[in-house]
Amino acid sequence: MARTILVVEDEPTLRETLVEALEGEGYRAIGAGDGRDALVRFRADRPDMILLDLMLPELSGIEVCRIIRAESGVPIVMLTARSSEVDKVVGLELGADDYVTKPFSIRELSARIRAIFRRGEQVSAAPPALVDLGPVQVDLAGHRVLRDGEAVPLKPKAFELLAFLVRNAGQVFTRDQLLERVWGYNYAGETRTVDVHVHWLRAAIEPDPARPQLIHTVRGVGYVFRRPG
Ligand code: CA
Repeated sequence: MARTILVVEDEPTLRETLVEALEGEGYRAIGAGDGRDALVRFRADRPDMILLDLMLPELSGIEVCRIIRAESGVPIVMLTARSSEVDKVVGLELGADDYVTKPFSIRELSARIRAIFRRGEQVSAAPPALVDLGPVQVDLAGHRVLRDGEAVPLKPKAFELLAFLVRNAGQVFTRDQLLERVWGYNYAGETRTVDVHVHWLRAAIEPDPARPQLIHTVRGVGYVFRRPG
């Protein structure tokens, strides 16, 4: 499906030119002529990107950017006639992803657009760093578990075990496999070590540790992590 780009620009000639050029590149392009219309179109059409002129009637581009950013992470490219650093800084601080200074070439603009879409694909293709388990979130990159934004105290091995199980959700492991994979091939411990760590993990992350909903015991086999819901 073609990606939708909302072009917010009050100068009709430029708006039409941009809409046509973007459609020529295979996008679905929608025009809006002022700040209020921009918000209406944004909410109705859910565009994949917004090209946003800074100087607009009704609501300024800065205002529009602020409002949209509060509602969505959609990429926003500011179109600014002024090349002052202040505008760029303000725009970027408000969450614009990029800006182009007028006059710009269609070629330059579409290169920026492609780069932003590419960046978005890479981000969404990467494994999520924060796994939401309902009551707690597992911050795989930060090696911690969060409850209400606060880190839950966990021993490093307990976290490693949790991270391993979360990364392999749905897969059942024996205690020996977990010892091998989490503690290492040369670990001389007993399988009871796994049980103890699972016990700690359940106390830390399960709403009711006596009735686990995340780390399940598979009788006669071992353990499996299942995502909630
Ligand atoms: Ca303008």
